[in-house]
Amino acid sequence: MGRAMSYDDEVPACTFCGKTEHQVRKLVTGQGAAICDECIELCVGIISEERRKDAEINALQLPKPMQISAYLDRYVIGQQEAKRALSVAVYNHYKRVNMELDEAAGQLDRAHAGVFGSDAADPLADVEVSKSNILLMGPTGVGKTYLAQSLAKVMNVPFVVTDATTLTEAGYVGDDVETILQRLIQAADGDVSRAEHGIIYIDEIDKIARKSGENTSITRDVSGEGVQQALLKILEGTIASVPEEGTRKHRDQETVQINTRGILFICAGAFVGLADIVKNRLGAHESGFCATWRDNQIPDRELLRHVTADDLADFGLLPEFIGRLPVISVLDELTEDDLAAVLVQPANSLVKQYMKLFAVDGVDLAFTQKAIRAIAATAISQGTGARGLRSIIERTLQDTMFRLPSMPDVGQVIVDEAAVLGRAEPKLVRSEQLKTA
Ligand code: ADP
Repeated sequence: MGRAMSYDDEVPACTFCGKTEHQVRKLVTGQGAAICDECIELCVGIISEERRKDAEINALQLPKPMQISAYLDRYVIGQQEAKRALSVAVYNHYKRVNMELDEAAGQLDRAHAGVFGSDAADPLADVEVSKSNILLMGPTGVGKTYLAQSLAKVMNVPFVVTDATTLTEAGYVGDDVETILQRLIQAADGDVSRAEHGIIYIDEIDKIARKSGENTSITRDVSGEGVQQALLKILEGTIASVPEEGTRKHRDQETVQINTRGILFICAGAFVGLADIVKNRLGAHESGFCATWRDNQIPDRELLRHVTADDLADFGLLPEFIGRLPVISVLDELTEDDLAAVLVQPANSLVKQYMKLFAVDGVDLAFTQKAIRAIAATAISQGTGARGLRSIIERTLQDTMFRLPSMPDVGQVIVDEAAVLGRAEPKLVRSEQLKTA
């Protein structure tokens, strides 16, 4: 018996609630089914609720700057100034993204309600907040990438790292700028709207500065000014067409549209030589205050704090490009104490990672205080910041990691200063010895 009909198969009835057309105000009938006005209202309610939930999910959960900074503290050692600046910049960026989502939803509501022009009372209604991307300066291995990556984690947005030196203008050999967007979509598992709120980290941005005299060259500027030009649009916010798969655009390939307005770009570089430009500018003034800037004692970091758009232009960045990176933060070089802290303190510190690797085989891995200091000191002497730490530990433990799986009676490995300095092997303690101790 078809449920669109009442019991006597004569009077049409609602397929959902079973009421006959006499019991309801309106019954809409279709092929083999019918729905009454009450059930339509119920369904509309369910759909609206779903839509509202979707909108809530789409609007990014926005932690406050202090919460973002506290999260970064769990992972990143030092860099307090950068953490503060980044927390504010990220908060403002996603606040703007949420604002735009709200505005879009508001316009929709008003359109439905047929109420137009209600913004007239709000003097800020027409104000459009423009985009602020971030420029990080600092030597290698001080946590620039790591900070950006941690920010993406706290915001729960897709993240990609790219290198400006691999980018080229469209048409040249190399990755064109759209490739980064394509990778971001991949990082968002193909979800374009999620990618539209992602973070793109572009390393070695200083390497695409126009070298002095280069503009007079007749050779084509493959990875300099042209790349800056190509990046301008996506940095500001544009709707880009990105090929769906592969790295090259073919004429007949499907493309997807992605709006870059909600994408946060964090550009970074060491900017070697920029401090000298700042120093020369400050030193060029003949006042007593500025005379101190000519003093060679002033660390580069201190000078970089005073960097202006003009200095960056002198360095070789296009003024329009600089204009799109208004938040500038300078990172500190990590001291030996910082590096020692990097080794042990963060939630996923290197020492904890190696302890976990050994624990899987039932072996307790321990580092003496002096060993930690020696690893930090070696990294300082190599001048690669925290980047060198892993390879130092790897080298120290390599032989042990080779032999250990074939030595089931070992319960503990102790890394001391001599082991780090390559004067001795890490000490192996037998399980039996541990029990008796
Ligand atoms: P950069 O981008 O400045 O060259 P990275 O962020 O890539 O350096 O640092 C390399 C690795 O060193 C990171 O993945 C992280 O494990 C560690 N590291 C660097 N700086 C810090 C820091 N300040 N606090 C904690 N870990 C750090």
